[in-house]
Amino acid sequence: MTSTWAIALHGGAGAIAERAYQREEEHMAALLDRGSAMLAKGMSALDVVTAMAGALEASGLHVAGKGAAPNADGVVELDASLMDGATRAAGAVAALRGFTSPVRVARGVMEKTSHVLLVGDGAAQFATNEGFEKVDDPKTYYVPAESGLPGGGTIGAVALDTNGNLAAATSTGGLHGKMPGRVGDTPIIGAGCWADERAAVSCTGLGEYFMRVNAAADVSARIAYARQTLEQAAAGVIEDVRKLGGYGGLIAVDKHGNVAAPFASQGMKRGLANARGLREVKTF
Ligand code: ASP
Repeated sequence: MTSTWAIALHGGAGAIAERAYQREEEHMAALLDRGSAMLAKGMSALDVVTAMAGALEASGLHVAGKGAAPNADGVVELDASLMDGATRAAGAVAALRGFTSPVRVARGVMEKTSHVLLVGDGAAQFATNEGFEKVDDPKTYYVPAESGLPGGGTIGAVALDTNGNLAAATSTGGLHGKMPGRVGDTPIIGAGCWADERAAVSCTGLGEYFMRVNAAADVSARIAYARQTLEQAAAGVIEDVRKLGGYGGLIAVDKHGNVAAPFASQGMKRGLANARGLREVKTF
């Protein structure tokens, strides 16, 4: 065990300059402090990112979980994923209907099945069998959060724990008014979420671009193969997204406790902290 830990949270890269994000920032600051305390006490990165992503989903302040927006048919279909860097175990759900915490269902997929990704009716059947909390009435439960730009209300959490293990989680309602069945980067391991022995990453933005640069996994690949620092690797990936014509950002932590949060968009709701005294909550 060491005394090094690090954490980063995001609430999406769709923030727009015309709006104030005080409520979101206050909620994120409280959550960041809670997550920091959990890590300082020795809790695992996997448990901390699950708790943080679950709380961000439940807040209704971002386009994930309670704050998710319906697709073009008026149906709420949600995507989420998480990954344990120590074992590279991963779980994900896509186009899931009717459950309050897609990220917890994703963790169930990781722990209770031999699969990584379940979609649609199969994912819902699994969640029902495992007893995950259902949404009673979608009409009253969901309070679609404003995301500013389309694509950019996703939530994410990444952490390094005092055992040196990394984990990442990402959850989203996807794009407002998306085509029924459309799935973005969020539940795609390697694109919207990644954790291994080098880094943990969670992405937000126009998912189609993040899938095409395999964004989350590429942060770690750049560290391994190109010997880049976390900051260089994270910035390089976002630059690739931008060059293709996309926008968005990511949060990342590495095994040394460094934290990076680059974005190519007006803003990205984020909270960053580590054992060396970093504590920052910002949108722009
Ligand atoms: N990346 C998400 C998606 O494309 C959207 C977001 O970040 O808000 O589904």
